[in-house]
Amino acid sequence: MHVLKFGGTSVGSAARLLSALDILVARAESTRVGVVVSAVSGITNLLVATIPRVLAGEAPADVAAPFRERHTVIIADLTAAAPALDGPALLALLETHTAELTALLHGTQLLGECPPDTYARILSLGERVSGRLLTALLHSRGLDAVLLDPGTYIRTRGPAPAAEPLLSAIEEACAPLRTGEAADNARVLVLPGFIGADHQTGRLTLLGRNGSDLSGALLAVGLRAAQCEIWTDVDGIYSADPRLVPDARLVPEMSYEEAMELSFFGAKVLHPQTIGPLARHRIPTWIRNSLNPSAPGSLICAHPTPTPEGGNPVRGITCLENVALLTVAGPGMKGLVGVAARILGTVARRGASLILISQSSSEYDLSFCVSEADAPAVETALTEEFALELQAGLLDPLDVQRGRAVLCLVGEPMRTRRGVAGTFFTALAQADVNISAISQGASERSISAVLDGADAARALRAVHQHFFQTARRVEIFLLGVGTVGASLLDQIRSQQAALLAHGVDVRVCGLGNSRHLLLTPNGLDLSTERGTDWRAQLGAAEPASLMRILDFVRREKPQNPVLVDCTSAEAVADFYLAALRGGLHVVTANKKANSGALETYRALRLTARSHRRRFLYETNVGAGLPVIDTLQNLLRSGDQLTAFAGILSGSLSFIFGLLEDGVPFSEAVTEARTRGFTEPDPRDDLSGLDVARKLLILHREAGGQQALEEVEIASIFPPDFDATGSVDAFLKRLPEVDAYFRAKIAALAEQGQVLRLAGEITPEGTCRVGLLAVPKTHPLAAIRGGENALAFTTHRYAPVPLVIRGYGAGADVTAAGVFADVLRIVA
Ligand code: ADP
Ligand code: ASP
Ligand code: MG
Repeated sequence: MHVLKFGGTSVGSAARLLSALDILVARAESTRVGVVVSAVSGITNLLVATIPRVLAGEAPADVAAPFRERHTVIIADLTAAAPALDGPALLALLETHTAELTALLHGTQLLGECPPDTYARILSLGERVSGRLLTALLHSRGLDAVLLDPGTYIRTRGPAPAAEPLLSAIEEACAPLRTGEAADNARVLVLPGFIGADHQTGRLTLLGRNGSDLSGALLAVGLRAAQCEIWTDVDGIYSADPRLVPDARLVPEMSYEEAMELSFFGAKVLHPQTIGPLARHRIPTWIRNSLNPSAPGSLICAHPTPTPEGGNPVRGITCLENVALLTVAGPGMKGLVGVAARILGTVARRGASLILISQSSSEYDLSFCVSEADAPAVETALTEEFALELQAGLLDPLDVQRGRAVLCLVGEPMRTRRGVAGTFFTALAQADVNISAISQGASERSISAVLDGADAARALRAVHQHFFQTARRVEIFLLGVGTVGASLLDQIRSQQAALLAHGVDVRVCGLGNSRHLLLTPNGLDLSTERGTDWRAQLGAAEPASLMRILDFVRREKPQNPVLVDCTSAEAVADFYLAALRGGLHVVTANKKANSGALETYRALRLTARSHRRRFLYETNVGAGLPVIDTLQNLLRSGDQLTAFAGILSGSLSFIFGLLEDGVPFSEAVTEARTRGFTEPDPRDDLSGLDVARKLLILHREAGGQQALEEVEIASIFPPDFDATGSVDAFLKRLPEVDAYFRAKIAALAEQGQVLRLAGEITPEGTCRVGLLAVPKTHPLAAIRGGENALAFTTHRYAPVPLVIRGYGAGADVTAAGVFADVLRIVA
């Protein structure tokens, strides 16, 4: 005998029912079969929702109508596909059930409330109809099938909506089915899931929401089935809920105990009590996909194939939401005898189930979790139980934290493996998730952490990524799609596949300019072959609003969201603090924040640290050259900057290089401008302000505290030159200074020197930007043609400085530097 349970989605439409039928027909060829069937997907929820509607005054017949409609469609589709089916009989049957529903709802309305027995009868209607449909289908294929009355076999005790099955009574009731002596003797036995009957009163009961899985297990035990199969809508049990963790892995085998822990701690794929009875009778159980019947599924058994030495000790990770964390604490805790027992007793008497307990080693406090629905009753009961102690001040008022979630790692090999908890908590810390309480099952098969429910999905993904080594995802929100931003998108596009192969999944989830902001949870498709064009999509996107990024991150809970600033806008720089607080890392090519007010400069670093986010800005100085990182490494290892000199502007390096070749100054500027080396207004470069910002950033990096206004900028022009007016007027006037520069350069050449526009930090700590005469042998003398050079004199690098040299401007190298910063976040 095999028992097969089909969940709601496996019978959710005519097509699905027919696939289930095929599976059953094939199976019945080789063995007797017990079938447990859920309500058509969504029907139980629909039935639950009818009650408040009639209580609010809606007409019972109207409220019952969707129940009829949903099944009518299925019956019509079934009769079209299976002509042997007696459609009118099924429709008549549906009418009877709809009439029963209407009558029950009518009674509820008259009473002004829905008593538990009525509630159970209403909810049972879904399974009662689906059971009939499946039996009729089996008959239409000529199978010897009988519909069992769940009340006869699934004997229970306790409250009607969530009764407890009585295993021995069930086994006894099922005995005649095993031997074939029962009146219900057939090749295929169909049992509507979810439903039972009270052992004493015989009244209809339910096994709690999702209880059809349990019905499957109970029938399997009752029939002493050789195997039990739970057919659902996923290929088996995954390492985490595939809806929350898209790259979760299928677990081919696990032990009964592991499956019990996983379902207890929230793996919705199995009702938590399903495995107990199956384990007791050692019935091998498969979880299989009715939408993909050829997939082997997951096997739950007594002795799964052992995990090899060094293999992943974690089988699965679950997340149980809507949990409340209650803490009993107080100065009298240590002396009070049996507090734990009293707490547990009180919780149990309330019928609430304890999810986990955690006690501090000082025994000063004891925390435990119950479902949020149970929390108010538990709170009242505990306040009553400990009234005297509370009054005497031996206990503090009960602390109740709602909206918590329990994240749980499950795996048999964790018992013998060290460091699992360490990895777990490191992963949570890196994801900036606070832990309110921790508990390890005595079996050491599970470790749980209680956290804020708002962090649950992010925490689950981060921990899963750590243990299953799936690709680390980084979600980019790129602001600024000018030359640097566009080049970055090109680079991401061309590297995406290669990075994924190395375990890094880079996605562009946000794209914005000053007018629009495009947000997509799964990332933009950047491939050009598929004809998607980000420019067109951005143009059609909603208006720009930085706050929408924060809302999006709060809602979608990306794994490693990064704000990437490729603008030079002050407004974007002003947004970094909010972004860091909102959970985004920040990578910026924009110098405004780091060269702005010193308080902001400090606040950015403090906020990043306290929120465990990265704030990276390698491209602020020298574009893609490894400047900031190198300097930080020197300083971290105890070196000190004593002086600095550098050519920090690609455009000025180009212009001054040409001067040496005898090109007049005005021509050199025009040439640089036409070749795109300068800003549209070349005075932005020539003014030295941009260089001053870079210099200030280096100075601050080395511990300096100056403001931009304190950087001395010496104008490169002779005092009598008028550098004001429009760009054209300025360019027209520029030949006036040609002679001045020619003379200066000639004079210097005689002394074996060249002229450079450079930034310096003197040993006294003065930051200065201006014209610098350097000997031809000096490292800066060779810098021209757009190159940058940075010479750091430090305690270790003296008298010869450490020199970093290379192209320090240009969209491609800057974008590459930004990209490298983004990748450092997931390195
Ligand atoms: P059914 O209607 O067949 O009983 P359920 O919706 O109750 O189906 O359970 C199947 C769902 O359980 C899956 O679609 C999946 O989203 C969810 N689920 C949660 N955790 C897991 C997990 N660890 N492995 C597989 N599925 C899971
Ligand atoms: N139909 C019931 C529910 O939705 C039982 C089940 O599907 O397992 O809770
Ligand atoms: Mg289910």
